[in-house]
Amino acid sequence: MHFAPPSRAASVRDVPGGQELVLADGHTVEADIVICAIGATPATAWLRDGVLSLDPTSGAVLCDDTGFTGMPGIWAAGDCAQWASQASGLRPVGQWQEAVEQAGILSASLTGAAPAPFQEPYFWSEQYDVKIQGAGRISQADEVRVIDGSIETADLLVSYLREGAEVGILGFNRLREVKRWRKQRQVRAADVLVA
Ligand SMILES: Cc1cc2nc3c(=O)[nH]c(=O)nc-3n(C[C@H](O)[C@H](O)[C@H](O)COP(=O)(O)OP(=O)(O)OC[C@H]3O[C@@H](n4cnc5c(N)ncnc54)[C@H](O)[C@@H]3O)c2cc1C
Repeated sequence: MHFAPPSRAASVRDVPGGQELVLADGHTVEADIVICAIGATPATAWLRDGVLSLDPTSGAVLCDDTGFTGMPGIWAAGDCAQWASQASGLRPVGQWQEAVEQAGILSASLTGAAPAPFQEPYFWSEQYDVKIQGAGRISQADEVRVIDGSIETADLLVSYLREGAEVGILGFNRLREVKRWRKQRQVRAADVLVA
């Protein structure tokens, strides 16, 4: 597996034995196959001329951290919405776990029930026989430590730290460790939403 620094892809061309990705900075990356993951866009065009505020870039419905849009009776959650803490980068956007947790918080707000506790941000991805799981505030880390294993063996545990304190974890086929980490870190909404 090859990790390249972030750079815009300029083109893809066929080369003997596979394909070659040409990056905007002139570097090239050879690969057997090229998968293009271009993200997702909320289907909110039909709301554009309405009363709701939409994020000018993504088109997501802007809400506070209970899903309230500011318009009485209108709430939004999931991929079509951008909650205040997501705008500030404290919560991830476009992930299954986030949509589920937002639904719990929103329904508690609507019914007056005690809000469900937020978990630390979490994502997973299955790449053939590798289950990749990440939890916590990985993007805010200033130090990355490999705790065990390696990418090559598809068995990896990585710790993310900020100012010496662990803020996130990443595992390749480390279901037990990531589950334990998440269980220990279940937090109240207010704890997560503080920078
Ligand atoms: C290819 C792909 C891979 C992904 N992989 C992962 C992953 O590995 N891990 C992870 O955590 N997340 C993953 N995600 C993200 C995850 O699927 C989403 O975050 C999650 O499904 C969001 O849930 P949602 O209910 O907000 O939206 P959706 O699941 O998109 O559901 C919205 C529903 O609303 C319907 N709809 C849209 N407009 C209207 C309308 N005007 N009227 C009525 N119905 C409407 C849609 O048809 C759809 O059924 C992936 C997403 C994609 C596209």
